Amino acid sequence: MKTSQKILAGICTCLFVAATAGCVVTAQRLQTERKEKQRAEAKAEDLQTEIRKLEKEIETLQEEQKQIAQEKEKQEKPAEMGKEVPAKGKKIAIDPGHQGPNVDMSDLEPMGPGSQEMKAKASSGTQGRYTNVPEYELTLNISRQLQEELKKRGYETVLTREDHDTAISNSERALMAADAGADIYVRIHANGSEDPSANGAMTMVPSAENPFVGALHTQSYALGACVINAYCQACGMENDGVQLYDNMTGINWSKLPVIILEMGYMTNEQDDVNMQNPDYQKNMVKGIADGIDQYFAAGN
Ligand SMILES: [Zn+2]
Repeated sequence: MKTSQKILAGICTCLFVAATAGCVVTAQRLQTERKEKQRAEAKAEDLQTEIRKLEKEIETLQEEQKQIAQEKEKQEKPAEMGKEVPAKGKKIAIDPGHQGPNVDMSDLEPMGPGSQEMKAKASSGTQGRYTNVPEYELTLNISRQLQEELKKRGYETVLTREDHDTAISNSERALMAADAGADIYVRIHANGSEDPSANGAMTMVPSAENPFVGALHTQSYALGACVINAYCQACGMENDGVQLYDNMTGINWSKLPVIILEMGYMTNEQDDVNMQNPDYQKNMVKGIADGIDQYFAAGN
C-alpha cells in the first residue's frame, strides 16, 4: 500500500470508530432518558393512587361526620321532648285576691249558698306599708308566676282574673273555679295588721262544722298543710300554720277543696320587702307548687 492509501485507511478507521462511539453514547443516553421517563410515569401513577386513597378517606370522614351530626340531632330531640313534662291530669284554679280600685265591689252577696248573712262582693285588700305595693298587684303577680310554674310541672290551670279591672265577686270566683273543671281552688292573698310586728304566713280552710262546705274540710286541710309547710320551707317565711275560717264567702261557695294562702304581712317591714323581691318570689312560687305536688302525691 502506498503511503497515501495508508493514511486514507487510517482516517476511515478513525471516523468509523468515532461514529460507532457516538452511536453507543447516544443509545446509552436514550436508554437513561427512557428509564427516567418510566420512573416518572410510575411515580405519577403512585401519586394518583395516593390521591385516590386520600379522596376516599375524605369521603369516609365526611360520611362519619354526617352520621355524628345525625346522631347528635337524634340525641337532642329526645332531650327537648323530655322538657315536656307529662300531663298530670289535674287542673288548678288560682284566684288572685282582690282587684283594682276602679272596680266597685261594695254590693252585697250571701256569705254562703242560702245564707242570710251578707258580705261585700269583694274587698279592696291591704297594701305594702313599706313598698306601697297594693295587695291586688302582689296577688296577681304571684298568681301569674304560679300559673307558669304549675304549667311547667304538667298541670292545667285557670286564673279567676288576669287584670285589675275584672269585676268578679268572691262567690263568682269560687263558682268559676268549679265551672272550669278544676280539682282544687287556691286563693292567693297577703295579710295586713295594725301591729307592724305581726308577720308570717298561714293557710285558711273551712272547719268540719262549716254549714256550707264542711264536707270539704278534710281535703282542704290536707291541701292547706301541704302548701303552708312547703311554702315556708321554700322561702323562709314564718309558719303560722293552717287556720279554720267559716266566714269567708270565697271558701263557703267553693265546690272544690279550697284554701286561702296568706303569703305574709304587707304591714310588716321584713315580709313586705321580701314579698317584692323577685328572687324571694321565685321561692314563694316554688313552695306553693311543691305543696300542691305533695297534696296530689299523697293520693288526694
Ligand atoms: Zn286579701
